[in-house]
Amino acid sequence: MTSPTTISEGVVVLFHYTLTAPDGSVIDTSVEGGREPMPYLHGAGNIVPGLERQMAGRVAGDRFTAFVPAAEGYGDDDGEEPIQVPLAQLPDGVMPGMPLYAQNSDGEGLTVFVVAIEGDVALLSPNHPLAGVDLTFDVEVVALRAATAEEMQHGHPHGADGHEAHG
Ligand code: ZN
Repeated sequence: MTSPTTISEGVVVLFHYTLTAPDGSVIDTSVEGGREPMPYLHGAGNIVPGLERQMAGRVAGDRFTAFVPAAEGYGDDDGEEPIQVPLAQLPDGVMPGMPLYAQNSDGEGLTVFVVAIEGDVALLSPNHPLAGVDLTFDVEVVALRAATAEEMQHGHPHGADGHEAHG
């Protein structure tokens, strides 16, 4: 298997990133605490669309800043009020920011996010906690490799080397 040289569909990309909000505060970073670069499978929607689009064509070693407006990030905030759900009805260990898979009364699946926990009640919203937030990613492309057949089938990478087990 030949190694890809540029980022395109079917390439697993390992990258470091620092994500900042419009006020300059750091939301998340992979470069502190000895964290490994994050892998994603290009073309599979593993990362927000605005960042994935700006990754295309990059090569290992590239450093760049990607500005991603909210609409191409975690979506616009639709202004809906969070709903209150007793913690007792939710899985153990829910924390703010955590996505939960739920079903509405028609049996349709949807993802909701834990906005906050107040006493024994969780506030849940269909909006991602970063909905409505314009994002700036400082990116370093660390390495590229071809996805394995299994990764292509699953639509996500299996760790840095493609052989990491998952549940
Ligand atoms: Zn998998």
